[in-house]
This record gives sequence, structure tokens and C-alpha cells, in this order.
Amino acid sequence: MKIINPATEAVITELKVDDASSVKIKYEKLQKGQKKWAALPVKDRLDTIVKFGDLVKQQADDLARILSSETGKPLAQAKGEVMGSLNRITHLKANAEKWLAPEVISSENGMEESIRYEALGVIANISAWNFPYNVGYNVFLYALVSGNAVLYKPSEFASLTGLKFQELLWEAGVPEDVFITAIGGGAVGEALLELPIDAYFFTGSYRTGKYIAEKLAEKLVPVQLELGGKDPLYVADDVSDVKEAAENAAIGAFYNNGQSCCAVERIYVHEKIYDEFLSAIVESVKNYKVGDPTAEDTFLGPLTRRPQLQVLRAQVEDAIKQGAKLECGGERIKQKGYFFEPTVLSDVSHQMELMQEESFGPIIGIQKVKSDEEALELMQDTDYGLTAAVFSKDKKRAEKLFEQLNTGTVYWNCCDRVSPNVPWSGRKKSGLGFTLSYLGIRAFVQPKAYHLKE
Ligand code: NAD
Repeated sequence: MKIINPATEAVITELKVDDASSVKIKYEKLQKGQKKWAALPVKDRLDTIVKFGDLVKQQADDLARILSSETGKPLAQAKGEVMGSLNRITHLKANAEKWLAPEVISSENGMEESIRYEALGVIANISAWNFPYNVGYNVFLYALVSGNAVLYKPSEFASLTGLKFQELLWEAGVPEDVFITAIGGGAVGEALLELPIDAYFFTGSYRTGKYIAEKLAEKLVPVQLELGGKDPLYVADDVSDVKEAAENAAIGAFYNNGQSCCAVERIYVHEKIYDEFLSAIVESVKNYKVGDPTAEDTFLGPLTRRPQLQVLRAQVEDAIKQGAKLECGGERIKQKGYFFEPTVLSDVSHQMELMQEESFGPIIGIQKVKSDEEALELMQDTDYGLTAAVFSKDKKRAEKLFEQLNTGTVYWNCCDRVSPNVPWSGRKKSGLGFTLSYLGIRAFVQPKAYHLKE
């Protein structure tokens, strides 16, 4: 498999891919390793994860360069991800022992009723490329601390990073038969589905996620899906500073080139501030520096995957044909690499694909609304349910909308953020199950009920 640098289209290296027989051998190794690993105290497993975090910190510059070279993520943002994702380890260190400890629920008349948490066994983690540190850690670090062995399939667009995870986890003391990487694309993922793995944790598109869930249904094992979104932001007329709101909305939409599952993908603006907001966001977006991801001041690098260039172009054409106004951008940048101009479209409607299908690129549609009720109706008009944001001075006004929104996460005066303290989950086509928080660690264990009579 050729690993391509999306900024230059040069081949970085070639990797040998796995196949059905090599993943079977890896699985069998993990099956043996898991039992010894699960027998260790939580504290010992946690110590190796903390050591892994220290190694990541020491090598952060190199790791960021690797991540940037295979995904096109600007170097500064790559470093931000490598360092920022360490908060998962801090969170585990503070809480894992407490959350995995046996719980005595009742003890009376010589009868003790308690819950003990047991690892699931060997789990598969089929992952995405857009934030491989964040979404990887949400699964494999929590799984390891809980006593599972992990067969980790990084995305084919983040394989070098995946191999680094393996190297550093082993160096930190995670046994070589407890975490193993499977390299390759969809076919290797498919091979994992054929193995008698105990649970599957998938991060990726709705299309692949749905296929995996259907394929695995007859196994009756846990299947968790972290999928895409079409996340709305509503900017109410009472925001204290329209320009600042526009700048923050733009960052929510364009950070990581819009390739975030929780990127702002649709913006609704109250008519009273619409014109001011629109000119401010267009000005902000026009000033974004696009180009070489290794340059320090670059905000937008190339897209990671070439085919997405056509998806974005098609969304722009469809929107314009149906009456949208192109405020800026709209085209592939004519140079080597998968660069697309940062694009803003106004006067959009829900008839347009731009407002219905995940764009996953540097492109945003902005629609004028007359009231909170109209904004709510449009925000709800989607098959997805990952996050939704409201910018307003009035917390109560935002909370009234939040109660009615069918999403796993809501944001007031912020957006496009994930925290280990609270669960990360999608509703509807955005997924199934939880990562992060105590719910996220419990996803990797199964409870056993103990009834103990003296
Ligand atoms: P994708 O569905 O193309 O691929 C995801 C993974 O599935 C890759 O490792 C791929 O090799 C593997 N795969 C592909 N076909 C397979 C098959 N038939 N069987 C088994 N595995 C298979 O998604 P992607 O392009 O890597 O990721 C982008 C998507 O992920 C976006 O929709 C984004 O919103 C979503 N995402 C969601 C979250 C979240 O937390 N909700 C986080 C990051 C990304």
C-alpha cells in the first residue's frame, strides 16, 4: 500500500498490508495475551498507559510531522492533536481505578449483592484518519486499561501513525500480544469482521458503520459506532459581538479543513444580524492561509483524500444551481496536492445537498432565519444527531432549544469540542454507544452480578 502525502502527491513510503490469514494469526496471539493482561491490577495497566503518554510527549514533534505528512493536517494543528489528546490519559489516571472497582450495591441479612466489571476480551478498533489520536485513544486506551486486548486497524490514511501507536505502547510495557495493528484498507477491516472477536468499536462514515453493524448482527456481540454528522450552529440576534461570533463560527467550520466529525456544517443566522454576520465570516474565511502544511502560519492544508474534491465541487454546483450565492471559494486550487478553496455559500436552503449531506471539507452554507422556532425546525431537519450549537447571550434561550434537539452533544457559545469528562455519542445516523466519561470506560467491560450468601 502506497502512503501518499496529500500536499505533494508524493509517495512517502510503501507498507505491506495484512490479509485474512495474517489477521487471524494476530487475533490468536491477542486471545492468549488478553488473559494475562486482564489478570493484572488496573493500576499496573494504567501505569503502562501513563508511560505511553510520557513517550508521546517526548516525541511529540516527530509524531506531529508523521501525522501531518500522511493526512495533510497543518503541523501546528497536528502538534495540537498529539498534545491535546493526552488529556484522555490524565482523565484515566484520575478515574479508571474508581470506575472499574467492584461495587457493593447492598449487604443485608447475610446476602451481599455486588457488580464486578470484566473485560470484553479481544476487541477490534476500526478507526478513522481525521483525528487518529483523539478517536483512537477514546477506544484503545480505555479498552487496554479495562483489561482488553486490541486489534487496531488504523485508517489507510493514518497507517504510519497507527504503527507509531503500536511501537510506543510496546515500548511503554503493553505486551506485544495485547495491542497489535492490522494494516490496510476496507478489505482488511472486512477480514476483522470474519474473526470471532468479542466486540467491535468503529469510527468512520455512516455508510461503512451501517454495513458493519448489519454484517455483525448475527454474532450478537457489542458493536459501537462513532459516525458522521451534519452539525448545525444557530447564531441568535442577541450575541454580544457579531464579528467575534462569525470568527468563532468560521473556526468551528474550517478547523482541520472541516474534516472533523463535529465540525460546524450548517449555520443559521437570525435575520436581524444576518448581513453583518455574513460579511464578517466571509472576511474571516478569505484571510485564511491555505497551503503548505509544514509552514507555521498555514491554517488550511490539503484535503486528506482526493475523491473528496469532487464531492465538494458537486455540492457547490448543486447549491448554485438551486439559487445559492457563492460568497468566496468554490473551486479546487490548481496546484499539486488536494487543495480546495475555503468556500462560503449564502442564501442556501434544505433542498441543497450542501445542507443535508456531510461535506467534510472547507465549505459552509449560511441560511437566514426569522426566529428561534424556525432555527430549531431547520436544525432538527437532518438524519444525523452528533452535536448542535447555539450562540446567544441568553443561556436560558439556548437551553430551551437544547431540550428539543436530538443530538448527543450541545454547545452554548462554543462548538467543535470534545472533553473526556462527558460522554461522546451520536444519535440517529451519527452512531450508537458511548466513548469518554465513566460511560465510555464501561463500554469496554461487561458487568457480572454477584449474589453472595454468608
Ligand atoms: P470510512 O467509513 O471510509 O472508514 C473508516 C474505517 O473503516 C477505515 O479504517 C476503513 O479502512 C474501514 N473500512 C472501510 N470499509 C470497510 C469494510 N467494508 N469493513 C470494515 N472496515 C471497513 O470513514 P473515514 O473516511 O475514515 O472517516 C470519516 C468519517 O468518520 C466521517 O463521516 C466522520 O464524520 C466520521 N468520524 C466520526 C467520529 C465520531 O466520533 N463520531 C470521529 C471521527 C470521524
